[in-house]
Amino acid sequence: MSSLFPALTDGPPGRPALRFGERSLTYGELAAAAGATAGRIREARRVAVWATPALETAVAVVAALLAGVAAVPLNPRSGEKELGHVLSDSAPELVLTAPDAELPAPVRDLPRLDVDAHGTGAVPEDRTSDGDPALIVYTSGTTGPPKGAVLPRRAVAATLDALADAWRWTGEDVLVHGLPLFHVHGLVLGTLGPLRLGGCVRHLGRFSTEGVARELNAGATMLFGVPTMYHRIAEALPDDQELVKALTGARLLVSGSAALPVRDHERIAAATGRRVIERYGMTETLMNTSVRADGEARPGTVGVPLPGVGLRLVEDDGSPVASYDGETVGEIQVRGPNLFTEYLNRPDATAAAFTADGWFRTGDMAVRDPDGYVRIVGRRATDLIKSGGYKIGAGEIENALLEHPGVREAAVTGEPDPDLGERIVAWIVPADPQAPPPLEELADHVARRLAPHKRPRVVHHLDALPRNDMGKIMKRALSHD
Ligand code: ATP
Ligand code: MG
Repeated sequence: MSSLFPALTDGPPGRPALRFGERSLTYGELAAAAGATAGRIREARRVAVWATPALETAVAVVAALLAGVAAVPLNPRSGEKELGHVLSDSAPELVLTAPDAELPAPVRDLPRLDVDAHGTGAVPEDRTSDGDPALIVYTSGTTGPPKGAVLPRRAVAATLDALADAWRWTGEDVLVHGLPLFHVHGLVLGTLGPLRLGGCVRHLGRFSTEGVARELNAGATMLFGVPTMYHRIAEALPDDQELVKALTGARLLVSGSAALPVRDHERIAAATGRRVIERYGMTETLMNTSVRADGEARPGTVGVPLPGVGLRLVEDDGSPVASYDGETVGEIQVRGPNLFTEYLNRPDATAAAFTADGWFRTGDMAVRDPDGYVRIVGRRATDLIKSGGYKIGAGEIENALLEHPGVREAAVTGEPDPDLGERIVAWIVPADPQAPPPLEELADHVARRLAPHKRPRVVHHLDALPRNDMGKIMKRALSHD
């Protein structure tokens, strides 16, 4: 297929491509380094990449894509058990890593190739076709053991091109992010995205509001983050004039991977006049919807389907929901060139994930506003509470709870109830641990904002919510407590 990264061979070689901390590469240098590594892995079918937030990780993944070898990014923060699962499942022939990395037991058993970020080699001739696997990315494991999603080259190209259209994203943009490189958000969008467009990515190594302010004030134009990052930004904004200036001047602020609480969206808008754009995607589908750069960023919504993506909402019986009235809840199903081809070694899970007519069942539930904006109400498995004959999404209750000044963080689950079917349970991190808001007060607060049947019946107070590496709330850990 045509090159995923035309700027490596066709653009000016002196253009900045990557910067990780103090280390950077131009397109010419990246082409040489990735070309050198590509030459050494050409015979492999599949390689693992030890995906620390380092220049070498980006070089390794680009090299694999140039060589037409599928890359499996490994999460350096996962434990030996999970790494063991990923390695035995994906069976890579070697692991690509930064020279200074110390590898833990199951990864150490693989032949190791140290990536030279300043190596010199030629970009190999492209012999790939668009259905060849580009990446095998493991899902976040929010709802069960991670599954390896096989992403074809076509999906990477299609999703990045759709985002370029929706976000008016070009090679002139300079992106700043501090996301991990083992999931699609930080890797496909945050690293391969700028490189496909001939733009530049500056990685913070580790996210900090100071780093965001510094880079945006030094010419970066876009920020990608997960909601926990925007939460930290919202907390810092009132006092931090550098950060206010940085966000006010940015071209585009994008959030994804989990729902951005309405409260944080509003606080950032109040302090900077800027609205964060939300997009919705999954490992299996890459990106499905987004607010467009020139569209209205409606808090609590993830925008409209991206170009090329078919999206429908489906009732439990499989029929499409009758209307976009902003109220009727259905499962989001999608199709398009952005989709994965299969879960590795899981024909059962792959078959179960698609409808007979070829739509992918996301497992996410949503409503659509009359003009097509999608509002995610939550995951079918953990966020949809069936109580007193109603289907209630956890998300809107969480948003309502966060409007209470005594609530710092909130998660909502359902638990079995003899009368209601399920009762609504709130898990709260109080703003003041000495004075947590009592149940009656929170229940009244929610009932006034939403509807009486949406009030929580039980409240638990916690020091922190259980979150995974992407900052996603692990509801399994809550309900099993
Ligand atoms: P697993 O599939 O292993 O349980 P996971 O679903 O968290 O983990 P990912 O593929 O990283 O793994 O995450 C995709 C999910 O994240 C989506 O299905 C959706 O539930 C959620 N998500 C992503 N973006 C948004 C968003 N903007 N708003 C709400 N939810 C989102
Ligand atoms: Mg999932």
